[in-house]
Amino acid sequence: MHVEESDIVQFRVGKIECFVFNAGSFRSDGGASFGVYPRSLWEKKVTPDKKHRIELAANLMLLKTPRFNLLIDSGLGYHHDPQTEKIYSPEPCQLLEKLSDCGCSPDELDFLVLTHLHHDHIGGIWRLENGQEELMFPQAIHIIQKEEWQTAHSPDKLNEAAYRFNKPLQLLARSHSLKLIEGNFELSPEISLLLTSGHTNATQVVRIESEGELCYYPGDLIPHDLHLHLPVTSAYDVSRNKTFFYKERILADLKEKQGYLVFNHQPDKKLLKFPLT
Ligand SMILES: [Zn+2]
Repeated sequence: MHVEESDIVQFRVGKIECFVFNAGSFRSDGGASFGVYPRSLWEKKVTPDKKHRIELAANLMLLKTPRFNLLIDSGLGYHHDPQTEKIYSPEPCQLLEKLSDCGCSPDELDFLVLTHLHHDHIGGIWRLENGQEELMFPQAIHIIQKEEWQTAHSPDKLNEAAYRFNKPLQLLARSHSLKLIEGNFELSPEISLLLTSGHTNATQVVRIESEGELCYYPGDLIPHDLHLHLPVTSAYDVSRNKTFFYKERILADLKEKQGYLVFNHQPDKKLLKFPLT
């Protein structure tokens, strides 16, 4: 089942203008997405196809601040190898079109934050131009956790399948557009990158707080509203314990400050506002 949703969700967090859009859906195994949550329960809300795959969106977030523009994650991008086409059946990428609809041209992007380096988050950072591979946003500083970068370049046996699509990272390594950070990082007084683990060894989530309003982009720690249940974690997670720990902290912060939560992989729901009704 394909859920058509081309709408861009636009809202403000204090002085930050926020846009959430789907850069292009793909399909992934439903059981792997919901881990221990039984299919008999999740299939009441999400319909799998004949290959037991469900539709996942690549919901990206653009932040326009008075001083800079920032994109969080990049989706699967425009070019895929045959294995990716077969396993994930990605729909045509709409990254540049959606950015344009948000009033942001590629060269107006100052920062690109990658929550982690799985292929469905980094595919949009490169493109083929006249047969040459190049960065999609060469002028943007790409901010990545150093530990995540190291894992992607020399994954252990647990992680090697998840990081096999590293072509875009080779381009980034040769550029002047890469900034590796270690731990929590304050990009501005309003925007913080928080180091977590659980989904991968070093996933960074984005926390925005401005003029008393709060928003989280937790990436694959809470990709879908079914993951609001604390014990429901993706089977791709390297540590359910750590995912649980960070989810609990993020949700407590959101409940206390009545904030916004972005679901990065849910096709029919991009944003949630606390308190839940
Ligand atoms: Zn993902």
